[in-house]
Amino acid sequence: MNASSVAAPAAEARQTPSRPTIGVLALQGDVREHIAALEKCGAEPVLVRRASELAAVDGLVLPGGESTAISKLLEAFELLEPLRARLRDGMPAFGSCAGMILLASEVLDTRPDAKHLSGIDMTVRRNAFGRQVDSFETDLDFAGLTDGPVRAVFIRAPWVERVGAEVEVLATVPSGPFAGRVVAVRQGKVLATSFHPEVTGDLRVHRMFVDLVLAA
Ligand code: GLN
Repeated sequence: MNASSVAAPAAEARQTPSRPTIGVLALQGDVREHIAALEKCGAEPVLVRRASELAAVDGLVLPGGESTAISKLLEAFELLEPLRARLRDGMPAFGSCAGMILLASEVLDTRPDAKHLSGIDMTVRRNAFGRQVDSFETDLDFAGLTDGPVRAVFIRAPWVERVGAEVEVLATVPSGPFAGRVVAVRQGKVLATSFHPEVTGDLRVHRMFVDLVLAA
């Protein structure tokens, strides 16, 4: 911005009292889509690959990708313990798909050496929807989001099999063979979805997360 530019800020930015710095864990997966969505929501997105970058963010998105690969990279980049510590200290986080798996306190059908972060008291089953429906889409009612259902894109997605007492279920599969399966949850400031809101252009879930960060 140059010195003479006192023009009104962008509409999105005007809505929010400040511009939170939100990291996107950038070890593997669909990082770019989250960066774009966060920017549109008025946040300042930054890539997180090292502990010093993690220390500087107000909240963190854990993208979809491959949870076992991200788990290995978290160890290789010496981010696993710093990330666990920040979650214990109350950093807001949002995990989609592989990110949901990483945020779980227990993971079924994963590799025995895969690590997770226990950001949400939940048991998640990896690749739960099975091979015939590796990928599918459906419309979901999402607690706390008005203006109609959310289009949910599932790509080799997990589901949530158990939630602790502190966890709020935000969305379930509405119909079909997987009706009732839990696919979105929140515990305090930590949010997780089995599906990928970053690929549909619907910003409501990211906005919900940015609001959690601003409230923190
Ligand atoms: N199946 C992947 C895993 O186990 C998750 C898929 C995704 O993030 N789209 O990590």
